Amino acid sequence: MRFAARTREIAGKSSNAWDTHYIAAEMIARGEDAILLTVGDTDFPSPPEAVGAVHEALAAHRTSYGASAGSQRLREAIARRHGERSGQTTDADQVTVTIGAQNGLTMAALCLLDAGDEVIVPEPMYVTYPGSIATAGASTVSVPSPADNGFHPLVEAMEAAVTARTRAIFLATPNNPTGAVYSRAELEKIADICRRHDLWLVSDEVYGDLVYQGEHISPASLPGMDERTVTLGSLSKSHAMAGWRLGWMIGPTQFAQAAAHLAVCATYGVPTFLQDAAVAALEAYPQGLPNLRAAYARRRDSFCARLDAIPGLSCRKPDGGMFVMLDVRSSGVSARDFAIGLVKEERVAVLPADDFGPSAAGYLRINLGAKDELIEEASVRIARYAAKLARQRGA
Ligand code: PMP
Repeated sequence: MRFAARTREIAGKSSNAWDTHYIAAEMIARGEDAILLTVGDTDFPSPPEAVGAVHEALAAHRTSYGASAGSQRLREAIARRHGERSGQTTDADQVTVTIGAQNGLTMAALCLLDAGDEVIVPEPMYVTYPGSIATAGASTVSVPSPADNGFHPLVEAMEAAVTARTRAIFLATPNNPTGAVYSRAELEKIADICRRHDLWLVSDEVYGDLVYQGEHISPASLPGMDERTVTLGSLSKSHAMAGWRLGWMIGPTQFAQAAAHLAVCATYGVPTFLQDAAVAALEAYPQGLPNLRAAYARRRDSFCARLDAIPGLSCRKPDGGMFVMLDVRSSGVSARDFAIGLVKEERVAVLPADDFGPSAAGYLRINLGAKDELIEEASVRIARYAAKLARQRGA
């Protein structure tokens, strides 16, 4: 039987990006010790306010269908929080509740893009972007954010990539995997490109509450951008609620109307009792969980100090997000070979960052969402493995 051609585009290039994760997961399933620092999950529990609210909602039989675009209460809570955080005047009518920001990425693509359109995305980029864009039959045009530019995008190259087919720019600040937090000046230049070429901007701000250096700017708050920006958010990272699958899109009212029609056909809405819990989480922690942010900041500082002390390796302290980028280019092996050797010989699983884009070649992406003692032990094992590679190189 025949499948739509887009299924191949959505599947993307066959990728071995997760090999280290599966190797470590098998070790753990066999009862062996392994440290998993691959996926962007966290050791923090979801807030008790949210857990309590979902129990209450279920006990009160809040189990009927709700509005496909999300409950009025939750859309108001999201609009209030976003308005306070970003300075953008935001109304509940601009908000669509989604199944995590991932569903928001795909819904935004389906509402904004036609087949044959192009989307400019700075790489390294979160791995699902090309597939999400491909659901709408559009294609991704990536533009480098080189390591020697602090993994910040080459804005002139973004403008040079604009063609008659370009319809949008998608970006994430803070970035996954690099942790780069785009500056106001950079975002102003990108906003200027959008205005001059009449482009949409899809701004993925799932790590917006996890900023350690600099300031998180929502580009929708820049002059003339509210009418052409869709801001994506979720409770996954900031509120340690990844498995709840609760996210949102904020855009112009007409965008929200189009998205509401899509939601009727695509999801028919998000579970009502989870939306009640999301209101509780946002009201209790409008800026995300303060302990989680403090823990990531502490782990970032101590982990990077330990990694920087390892001869031949150097760590890029992320300005935001939940990942550290470790430069292993001097180790004599590729990031992939380093990562495979590290998990097999030292039982520490991290991701080679190349699969997020060529600008990340030679870097490992390491998750900070694990207990302090595990991260500390990982640094000891990384040092031992790097020393072993250095001895082999010398031999
Ligand atoms: N965008 C980025 C940059 C991400 O890193 C992730 C999750 N890793 C998502 C979107 C999707 O997040 P969720 O669907 O859990 O909200």
